[in-house]
This record gives sequence, structure tokens and C-alpha cells, in this order.
Amino acid sequence: MTGLHAKTLTELKAGLDGGEFSSVELTQSLLDRIAAHDDQLNALITVTGDEALAAAERADDARAAGAGGVLNGLPIIHKDIFCTRGIKTTCGSRMLDNFISPYDATIVERLAAAGAVVLGKANMDEFAMGSSNETSYFGPVRNPWDRERSPGGSSGGSAAAVAARFSPAATATDTGGSIRQPAALTGTLGIKPTYGRVSRYGMIAFASSLDQAGVITRSAEDAARLLGVMAGFDERDSTCLDVPVPDYVAELGQSIKGLKVGVVRQHFDAGLDADCGARVKEAIAVIESLGATAVEVDMPNIDYSVPTYYVVAPAECSSNLSRFDGVRFGHRAGNVEDLFDLYCRSRGEGFGDEVKRRIMTGTYVLSAGYYDAYYLKAQQVRHLIADDFKRAFEKVDVIAGPTAPTPAFRLGDKVDDPITMYLNDIYTIGANLGGFPALSVPCGFVNDLPVGLHLVGHHFAESTLLRCAHAYEQATDWLAACPEGFA
Ligand code: GLN
Repeated sequence: MTGLHAKTLTELKAGLDGGEFSSVELTQSLLDRIAAHDDQLNALITVTGDEALAAAERADDARAAGAGGVLNGLPIIHKDIFCTRGIKTTCGSRMLDNFISPYDATIVERLAAAGAVVLGKANMDEFAMGSSNETSYFGPVRNPWDRERSPGGSSGGSAAAVAARFSPAATATDTGGSIRQPAALTGTLGIKPTYGRVSRYGMIAFASSLDQAGVITRSAEDAARLLGVMAGFDERDSTCLDVPVPDYVAELGQSIKGLKVGVVRQHFDAGLDADCGARVKEAIAVIESLGATAVEVDMPNIDYSVPTYYVVAPAECSSNLSRFDGVRFGHRAGNVEDLFDLYCRSRGEGFGDEVKRRIMTGTYVLSAGYYDAYYLKAQQVRHLIADDFKRAFEKVDVIAGPTAPTPAFRLGDKVDDPITMYLNDIYTIGANLGGFPALSVPCGFVNDLPVGLHLVGHHFAESTLLRCAHAYEQATDWLAACPEGFA
């Protein structure tokens, strides 16, 4: 079958339901496409061809028997941070290059139970630390819009795979922007739900008070379908909240008339590329033309979000990554002299430079004598930032602004300058610090490179965000744009 890759998840569902093609045909056509094109992008670490075809066959059988879940036979790619039973889960690191999980992450389990077919595992920055996919042990991912440029990170493999039409959807994770920034840089839609909305059981931890699982797709409707399956209470994750899951797809159609959209003054200052700023303002004008009202809001503490994040996230990562000691699983150095040597060499060899930098920063800010000055202070500032959002949400339903300060940058450009790299997440980190849901939807181009509109909502307002993105998508056609060579 040809042309199936061009369809969104919702269109593919209609095709499968209507008997136009089978899941085996669909799966085979996407596997062929990955085989033909991924050497240009390096979006996937593992392709699970045999397992995918077997799952597709089971889906076709279920359909023939009048059974099957809401995603029966539909393709997905998982970020390689989610544990998959019997299939390698590397987290983009040499440390886990040989790791085969004995269990599935909850979201992997739920998507499989709904009938989704896993095509493979997506490349990512090592342990999700990065904004360009260049920290991956498996090499950088290339942006389908310009192969000399980064697709963003850390979910760069997921975003590139969706932009290149390898799969209509991919799972992803977001600690400071890793779903939304790559979505913006690749012209895809990425949503990070409310902290606690989606289970993180089986998702390898980076910074536990910030990490959240979500999806990258080519439409708000597709994201709504997947989120409906992924979200909801899981007793295996103590941070997962027991809040009913709305029917996100059914709520998409509601009008956005009367919606109040906050525009943060601080988001349009000198750090933002002027052309990106222009695209974002045009997008906000379109949303206004659909019946929403824009209101200026002030967030006096938002400028502290990057420094706050770069204390909290490394602190938590230094604690989470202490489990990788060469003893129980993961990389183990050979010919060691004693236990201490085993720890040092296994970690020294297993982790890359950025991960080591974070572990060192994190250990420092948590150490006696510095804890109050750094970690405690950062946690206090974090509350001030969250309060800025809460005050804004007393007046507005969503906050709209840029997702990233520039379009996709060149591979190699920022790799030796961590601070410039960290500034990529200046607009996205606030949502993680406060646990708010947020998404990025494409809103045009600058120099033929995609730009993203960022929407943030109050806790559990995913439906409002998706509805707003859906209405905007209906009024524009940015999501239909396809990178050259991938049509
Ligand atoms: N770029 C940010 C970092 O490197 C965010 C990463 C993420 O969201 N996983 O920490």
C-alpha cells in the first residue's frame, strides 16, 4: 500500500475501520519507509519489525472477530525511555545499551491493550538531558526539515519520526520542555499533560518532581485519542493522581468563543527571535478571530525559571542516577580492582559528558552547607513561579506564547556552550516547575523552518488546550506541511 504514511492517526483509524487496508499492510508500509529513510535521520535506536508485524496480525484478527481496542492496529513509536518487556531500553545511554526490561511501562501496557502496534524505540538525549539530541550515545538525530539542523531534544527522535511520517504518533517525555521544544522545531504537535495525569511507572526517571509523559502527533485530535488511553490513575506510581479522565476527543469540537488567552509580557523580550515572535503574534490573532480574547498578563518571576530548573533538575537527577552503579543492571566495567573501582569505572564509562555535568552540579547543590543556599532557595523560587501562573489563571484560561526562542539551530552550534543550550527551554520550563499542562502546535515558518505556538493551561485543563489547538488547526494548515523528501 502506498500513501498510508501521509495519513494522521485519526485518518488511519477510519481506513482500518472501513476495511480499506489491514494493519499488517499499514505496518509493513511504515517499516519499509523507516528502512528506506532512517539512515538520513537516525530517529530510531531499535526497530521492532517482527514484533510489530505479529501485533498487527493480532489486531487484524481481533478486528475480524469484531473485537479490538480503540487504537486497534494503529502504529506508534516509543521514546527509548519507556521500558518495553523483552526489547532493549537504552535511554540514549551507553549505561543501558544492554538493558532489556523484564516489564512494560504502564503507558506501553495501556497503549498495547488498546491495540497499538509498536514500530520501534526512538532516539533521545542521554537520560533525557539535552535540547538538541546531541547527547545521545547513539548519535544525533537530524531534523527532517533540514538535515544539518537539530530536531530539538530530548524527544528529538520521537519528533523527527513523526515529522518524517515514519509513524503518525510517538510517545515522549518532558522535564523542562522535551516534548514541546522538539515538536516546535519539527512542525509537529506535542503535549505535556499535568504532573500526575499520566503514570510514570516504567519511565526511566530524570527529575522526579518535573518529569511527565506525553505524545507527539500531527493533530490535536490524534493527541486527544492517545492521551485518553494513556491518562488515569495507576497504583504503581505514587505521584499519579486519581482524577477522572475526560473524553478528550468528544470535547474537541466545543467552540473556543469567550476563551481568555493570556499573553505574557516577559515572553516577547529581547531573547526571542523577531520573526518567531511575529509568527506567534499572528497565531494569537487567529485564535482571537475565532472568538477568544487576548489579555496581557505579567509574570514577574518567570525570568528565574531557567536558573531554578538547573538547580532542581540536576539535584534530582544526581539522586535518581545513583542506581546505575554497575552492580545490578546496565554497563559494568571489566577488570576492576575493587568495589569502589567498579562504581567509578562503570559510571565513568557508562555516562556521557552532559549527564556527568548534571550529576556533579546536583551533588554539589545538595551537599551539606550548600543545600539551603541552592536547593532550598530554588524550591522557594519555584513556588513563586508557580504562583505567577496561578494568578494568571484567575484571569485567563490559557497562556499563549512562543515554544522556543528560535527555529531549529545547526547541529554542533550550541553543543560546547551549555548555558546557550539551556536557554532553549526558557518558555517551557515554567509549566514543569508548576506541574501545568502545556502543548506546542505549529504556527508557521521562518526561513522554511517550523515555529511552534505554546499553550499552557491550569492543572487538568488538557481538554481546553487541545480544543484551542484543534480550533487553530482548523483555521490554518501548518500541520499538513511536510518536509521535502518525506511527502
Ligand atoms: N532541555 C532540558 C534539559 O536538558 C529539558 C529536558 C527534558 O525536558 N527532558 O534538562
